[in-house]
Amino acid sequence: MSTAPERKEFESSKKLRSVMGQYFAQLGQAAQQGQKVAWCTSVGPAELLRALGFLVYFPENHGAMLGATRMATELIPLANARGFSPDICSYLTSDIGSFIKGETPLKKLGLSGPPRPDVLVFNTNQCRDVQDWFQFYSRYFEVPCLGVFTPRAIGSLSESIIDDVARQLEELVEPLEKIAAMRLDPGRLSEVIELSRQCTVLWKAVLETAAQRPSPITFFDGTTQMGPAVVLRGEQAAVEYYQVLLDELRQRIADGVAAVAGERFRLYWEGMPIWGKLRPLAEQFIELKTCVVASTYCNSWVFEALDPADPFRSMARAYTSIFICRSDPEKEDYIAHMAQQFSIDGIIFHDAKTCPNNSNNRYGMPQRLRDRLGKPYLIINGDLNDLRLYSEEQTRTNIQAFVEQLAES
Ligand code: SF4
Repeated sequence: MSTAPERKEFESSKKLRSVMGQYFAQLGQAAQQGQKVAWCTSVGPAELLRALGFLVYFPENHGAMLGATRMATELIPLANARGFSPDICSYLTSDIGSFIKGETPLKKLGLSGPPRPDVLVFNTNQCRDVQDWFQFYSRYFEVPCLGVFTPRAIGSLSESIIDDVARQLEELVEPLEKIAAMRLDPGRLSEVIELSRQCTVLWKAVLETAAQRPSPITFFDGTTQMGPAVVLRGEQAAVEYYQVLLDELRQRIADGVAAVAGERFRLYWEGMPIWGKLRPLAEQFIELKTCVVASTYCNSWVFEALDPADPFRSMARAYTSIFICRSDPEKEDYIAHMAQQFSIDGIIFHDAKTCPNNSNNRYGMPQRLRDRLGKPYLIINGDLNDLRLYSEEQTRTNIQAFVEQLAES
């Protein structure tokens, strides 16, 4: 009798739920506690906002929750009816659909909905969609929307780009001080940046445990475990959580515990997660004894350049070094390095229909990397949130055939 494959739960997951629960509880009480709330893009200036006393809320995290709970697909058409195209970011459309309908997974966490913003702050380092997304709410709540405009397709990171982004970050201080009704304390900013740096060091170490064979963690675990790195960077709670998780992973390595029992093959995931299908995908890879050991996505919250001694320039460097705003040659060098570090056998490219910014298969990169690394690739057509754009049956078949191909080579 065959049994369903099981994902190995982490002992730390209880603490993860508690840390994330406290974060959302604080947001839920912001209005009663008279605390100001800033909405921020995932690689926006969260450290600066925290140093100014804002509670920081991340709509992209809410978008991922809408995807993971499979609420997104029904909500997206509501945003489409307001003029937001079905072809644009499905985080945006599902989040705005959620707002229109008043339905949100946050209710399960005791919140009536996202906390009312006092200000919205975006960084276009990832895409232009975030600007349009935040401006929608800025108009509705009649609160300011501030932005940092970062170039895209950056090759080598020049000092002039860093100067420009650092200057834009410094220019945010004055309007944010007015909204926060307090002056920025440079010492506090350095403290927050140091905590964010520590979070990055630990999160990177967590991800790097997957270089072990067998790996103690998969990409699918990482998409859950990354929560504090996304929403709590700059807070002590994130640092403490990743220390606990890292200890557990090191113990798994010492005990020879594999995330995928009998690991035969190791893959790299390039592109967005398919939030509504994480579990079936994770289970299929376990069945195939194949571990997705590394990804661009989970590593996107590693900000090694952060330096408390040089706050603005180091934030500029950290936010501008991220994979998504780099040129194809830079991206290919990065993936080549990861492929070597994690001993990968092949690469999966997720072509997310509504996020061209995080879909790197469209201009020949898979073929170039195959020729350079001698590793095969598979392209999966799907989406981060809109499951109407994803064929589960076809994807399962393609993944199975890909792994069979690995076995034959
Ligand atoms: S990078 Fe992609 S998924 Fe993220 S906000 Fe922009 S369009 Fe949406």
